[in-house]
Amino acid sequence: LSLLRIEGVGHRFAAGTAALAGVDLTLEAGEFLSILGPSGCGKSTLLRLVMGLERPTAGRILWQGAQPRIGVVFQDPTLMPWASVIDNVALPLRLAGKGRAEREAAARAAIALVGLDGFEAAVPRELSGGMRMRASIARAFVGDPQVLLMDEPFAALDEITRLRLDDELRALCRRKGLAVVFVTHSVFESVYLSDRVAVMTGRPGRVADIRAIARED
Ligand code: ADP
Ligand code: ADP
Repeated sequence: LSLLRIEGVGHRFAAGTAALAGVDLTLEAGEFLSILGPSGCGKSTLLRLVMGLERPTAGRILWQGAQPRIGVVFQDPTLMPWASVIDNVALPLRLAGKGRAEREAAARAAIALVGLDGFEAAVPRELSGGMRMRASIARAFVGDPQVLLMDEPFAALDEITRLRLDDELRALCRRKGLAVVFVTHSVFESVYLSDRVAVMTGRPGRVADIRAIARED
């Protein structure tokens, strides 16, 4: 049984724009899945539906059992500029009402996981782009997620930093047994990182195989 089943999902915004149509997709436990597709094909919309931030206007999104703990990472690290790395990473635990000692221990562990130890007290403008992304990944890991959703996380980074983060992210997710949905428009990155690549095409977006894209024109 799949961890996540997306069945016949469509999404139409109030303004009338259809972002998705007839999307069928599964995510298996422990699987690293990339979703590849051009800008505007509906990748972010699909992730928002999986996060539960919006409800699909057609079809169903089914989790096996209870909805798992989900960690999310966006292209923009969205760190609080005035707050230290440790406070930024601990934010989800603060919002969940956890006590100070628990927040700090979990945040330190997550920071070490992404190789940012020593930078707990730094504020975001003191960090490189790659390090800010590491802090954002640590924040996604601090709540001990079972599923990680990433929306073009490394698109704004230079190639070398990106490759390093690709390698480390893959090793980390493997080690933790996480299921990952990784949205990207890089063919290389999707193939390099994932167990499986789902290709989105068309407008409104559908999930298809690579031959369907080649035939589109
Ligand atoms: P991608 O992530 O693949 O670039 P998006 O999911 O962001 O694509 O967008 C898919 C389509 O839905 C686009 O045509 C976009 O203009 C439209 N769209 C996205 N968000 C909204 C919104 N809040 N209201 C109306 N249309 C939207
Ligand atoms: P990453 O590949 O994680 O982005 P960088 O290549 O930006 O890392 O930086 C390499 C190393 O240089 C970092 O791990 C860090 O130790 C150090 N470093 C980078 N920027 C700063 C900074 N603003 N202050 C202190 N040390 C830094």
